[in-house]
Amino acid sequence: MTPALEDLFAVLRFPSISTDSNHASDVRACAQWYVDKFKSMGLSVELCETAKHPIVLAKNEPVSGRKTVLIYGHYDVQPVDPIELWDSAPFEPVIKDGKIWARGATDNKGQHMAHLLGVEETIKEKGELPVNLIFLLEGEEEIGSPNLPGFLEERKEELACDVIAVSDTGMVAKGIPTLGYGLRGITCCEVKVNGPDKDLHSGLYGGAVANPATAAAQLIASLHDSEGKVAVEGFYDEVEPLADWEREMWSQVPGVSESDLLEVTGSPAVFGEAGFSSAERLWARPTCEVNGMWGGYQGEGSKTVLPSYACFKLSCRLVPDQEPEVIIARVQKHLEAHLPTGVTMEFTPGHSGKAYVADPHSEAGKAAQEALEEVFGRPPVLIREGGSIPIIQSMKEILGTDTLMLGLALPDCQIHSPNENFTVENFEAGIRLSKVLLEKLGA
Ligand SMILES: [Zn+2]
Repeated sequence: MTPALEDLFAVLRFPSISTDSNHASDVRACAQWYVDKFKSMGLSVELCETAKHPIVLAKNEPVSGRKTVLIYGHYDVQPVDPIELWDSAPFEPVIKDGKIWARGATDNKGQHMAHLLGVEETIKEKGELPVNLIFLLEGEEEIGSPNLPGFLEERKEELACDVIAVSDTGMVAKGIPTLGYGLRGITCCEVKVNGPDKDLHSGLYGGAVANPATAAAQLIASLHDSEGKVAVEGFYDEVEPLADWEREMWSQVPGVSESDLLEVTGSPAVFGEAGFSSAERLWARPTCEVNGMWGGYQGEGSKTVLPSYACFKLSCRLVPDQEPEVIIARVQKHLEAHLPTGVTMEFTPGHSGKAYVADPHSEAGKAAQEALEEVFGRPPVLIREGGSIPIIQSMKEILGTDTLMLGLALPDCQIHSPNENFTVENFEAGIRLSKVLLEKLGA
């Protein structure tokens, strides 16, 4: 086994499950491994305490006039349940069929270890790095990074940088280098529609008082028109139209065609806002989705009841320039305006986060594109992600710096699921990528 794989295996053996307090000492032991590793590479390193799991911060000696690059990763992992579905023990990494199988192999130990080892190789070969480096590894990403924003705020000056590199996203397909430059935001709410003060007999009272479940269904149905467009007034007011180059680029990106989506989702058909491709709907258009709905009798057989209330949960995915607070207020206003007679409504806003977008054609973006092309042998596809990565938005808000999302995960890597895996090929490509990227960013 190569020394690079040995290092990766060493960290994969720590069950650094951040959500489980029984594993707090494993999380800490894993952090300590990185402290020792960074020290052995000649970097200055600090184990930074937080209210929960520590952050590892490593740096080289800064030289004025050089670019400062922050590489972010997280060394905590998801729980392993259901354990019986794993083909090998989650914390005893093995290589089979060209893949490393272990919890954390892709998310995120394998991906950030590639950067760490790229840094180590560069130092060994050249004696120093072409940039001022800040390597930040947190142990709380899988529980929502509760202490990272405070840490960034506290160390704002010390962490000032020209660009951030993160490998915690995916490649659209095997062998297709992928540069991510945008993420959707989110805003959520829960709605309770109230009717009678108790469940009623549907024979004795049905037809004479409003049914909250029917009213909730009417409200939900009012959120979209028949063509999939969100019908909330003002919902699209701030949405920037897609650039021509984006539509052109995305029309050629593999993995997001109609047939790909049908296969991945198992849905009988694709559906979404008229006038947009699936990639555009996923990456650059806002949505309003029902996440759950309940009320009334849910048990076996029938029960002739008129429920006293019905509830539903909504989440809106947002795109740049949509403010979460503004959008959720418009949704509330829409629901109040469409509330059927005979019921009342309780509206509770949930968590939210802004969308993120950077210019993939900036100086750093171009350096990343060149590095990806050099390592993978073809120009990268430039995509946005449909999901949200709050830390990237936090780093933008607090440090004012854009992030290059250099995804190395493959679609079948099974992160968060049993049999998580990372190809040896991508691990090794990631090491080369980190070396070339630092060289290009430093040039
Ligand atoms: Zn994860």
